[in-house]
Amino acid sequence: MQEQLPSVIHHFTDSDAQIENQTTPTFMPELPEVETTCSGISPHITGKTIANVIVRQTQLRWPIPDNLQQLLTGLSIHNVSRRAKYILLKTNTAETVILHLGMSGSLRIVNNKQKPGKHDHVDFVFTDGTILRFNDTRKFGAILFTSEPINQHKLISQLGPEPLSDQFTGRHLHTRSKNRKATVKSFIMDGHNVVGVGNIYASESLFMAGIHPSRQAGRISLKRYQKLAECIKIVLQQAIEQGGTTLRNFVNEQGKPGYFQQSLSVYGRANEPCKHCDSTIKQIKIAQRASYFCPVCQK
Ligand SMILES: [Zn+2]
Repeated sequence: MQEQLPSVIHHFTDSDAQIENQTTPTFMPELPEVETTCSGISPHITGKTIANVIVRQTQLRWPIPDNLQQLLTGLSIHNVSRRAKYILLKTNTAETVILHLGMSGSLRIVNNKQKPGKHDHVDFVFTDGTILRFNDTRKFGAILFTSEPINQHKLISQLGPEPLSDQFTGRHLHTRSKNRKATVKSFIMDGHNVVGVGNIYASESLFMAGIHPSRQAGRISLKRYQKLAECIKIVLQQAIEQGGTTLRNFVNEQGKPGYFQQSLSVYGRANEPCKHCDSTIKQIKIAQRASYFCPVCQK
């Protein structure tokens, strides 16, 4: 099918987040929230057949395909998975619905008695009455459909390794960083190098690894990258585990699933004492993004 994507794909990046111009940091779905969403919705829709798709708002980041209902009705969901921050609903015909939560999107499971609210833009209605409902206040999310093998899709094919996979190592980061003048923070937030390290988790991982966020990516040793890769895995894994406790929010509640605000060491803590050394946490901008660090613990 013809996809209505712009000719130059502007990948989803956290540079979309003008949100940090606000004084209070706002939390948007990052990799742990997306992972939690996948495991939250999967048991409710896997194996079920789509009876209808109701689209109330077509203008998301890209227009929703106008034949989405025709394409999906009668198909069943073979499995639910995640690649970077894309949620992939693979159908029994090996086609795929690609969902992205953007800056404010959420998915929840409701039944057909629960009336849609203002920002409930799309309902995937299953034959047993289950509804997968997509809500997105700011409309930066996306819903696309493809018949292509998903790894060849242009939104997916150029992505770096998953941070929690064995392909993601300190050696991988060290090799990719050769001659890079970008800051290490921008480097780890670039999805070509590793996916899913958003602004919050970049700050947190660099703090845990003791690396200053402004340090040049090409000037960090293999040993320090090994520490950093380990810290990225720990920080993301901890967030996913905390998310597991909010799974009930995906089912039969009126509001949005509450994205979890885990206890953070540096992010959003400007002028507060460092949890390790009591120095004052500093906030700077790196590539337009609010960046938090401890000037004593991070070198
Ligand atoms: Zn400190």
